[in-house]
Amino acid sequence: MTAATPSNGALFPQLAGGAIVLIALVLAGLALRRRKADRVAAEARAREEWRQAVETRDVRITEQEILRDKILDGIGEGVVALDRRRNVALANRRAVELLGLREPVVGSPAYQAVRNAAVHAAFDAALRGVATTRLVTIERGPEERHVNLHVTPVTGSHEIAAVALFVDVTRVSRLERVRRDFLTDFSHEVRTPLAGLRSAAETLERGGVSAADEQRLRAIVARQLDRLERLVDDLAELNRIEAGDLQLRKQPVDLAVLLRDVAADFRERAAQRSVALECGTEPAVAEIDPQRVQQIVSNLVDNAIKFSPPGGLVRLESSIRGPHAIVAVHDSGEGIPPGERERIFHRFYRIDKSRSQEVPGMGLGLAIVKHLTALHGGTVEVTSEPGKGSRFTVILPAGSESHSGRNG
Ligand code: ADP
Repeated sequence: MTAATPSNGALFPQLAGGAIVLIALVLAGLALRRRKADRVAAEARAREEWRQAVETRDVRITEQEILRDKILDGIGEGVVALDRRRNVALANRRAVELLGLREPVVGSPAYQAVRNAAVHAAFDAALRGVATTRLVTIERGPEERHVNLHVTPVTGSHEIAAVALFVDVTRVSRLERVRRDFLTDFSHEVRTPLAGLRSAAETLERGGVSAADEQRLRAIVARQLDRLERLVDDLAELNRIEAGDLQLRKQPVDLAVLLRDVAADFRERAAQRSVALECGTEPAVAEIDPQRVQQIVSNLVDNAIKFSPPGGLVRLESSIRGPHAIVAVHDSGEGIPPGERERIFHRFYRIDKSRSQEVPGMGLGLAIVKHLTALHGGTVEVTSEPGKGSRFTVILPAGSESHSGRNG
């Protein structure tokens, strides 16, 4: 037993040493595992942070894109950007409308999206580094738009090579044309009476004219002054209507009575031209400004007599048709070709300027008719058989009396 003691004593340190190594190994293993767990956790944290950063950046980019699209759509002018391969990189809503671009626009080749040679030439120039500013006409079916095009090259971007701005100036060009036409027509219309006045005045000034000639010249002066006065009045009236300055004084009026009054005013003039004037009127009460509707009917009757041959017939009619009070003026004159039936309502428009030199008028009467009728909430229509005559129909809202009277 005693002999065993030293050996036991020798065994203990060996066992203890082994246990320590084992514990050390276990501890080292545990530490290793914790470090690994820490590393995994750190990696996971880093990944999460990265994911969040990417997400935040994506949100920011999306917000920026939304903001950019809102700004671009709010500009009100067309914007198209191209990439280096000549594909559309961006197009705002106005550009899609104005140019009639077919979806999907972004990513499609520019020559497919925009079918216009002048625009392509400007795109080409921009991709070569040259900016272009020019007026182009964009055709979309029957419609034509005038557009100011600015194309600018973009440097220092990987995504965008050129930006094009399309500014629609159709309305401005139209107004400009109306202004030019107006001045041309106005000077043309004023020149004839002025020339008549000048020659009459010069002849009278030279003296030595017979009493009969003097009377004839005085009549010319009076007629031409009358013509100028009517022109100025009609223009002032048209301007007032177009500017919205004309206030209607509406009241219930029987159009049959109004037509008979106008017929009475024109009876003498019709007789002078050997034109018969008759009324086939039914009671038709409408809520109108009598003075203005008198003006509408007078302009129509004036034309009907003017454009009727001697021996012709002009007939005035009134009636109620459902909710409408109708005024119609027929004539048996030369008629109006189909292609002219819209245009005769434009200011200063006369079908045959050279022929109408013989017939007094400035081409403002029907423009006034159209505007005054519209102001009453009505419409004016024309039907005509060339060589046989024309019929102008003014359709006005019937007064409540006429309307309910008929329906009830
Ligand atoms: P104006 O009679 O002063 O020339 P309007 O505006 O009244 O001007 O008419 C414009 C044109 O329309 C006339 O010049 C004429 O060519 C045509 N027109 C108008 N009414 C008739 C009609 N009843 N018959 C034939 N042509 C007409």
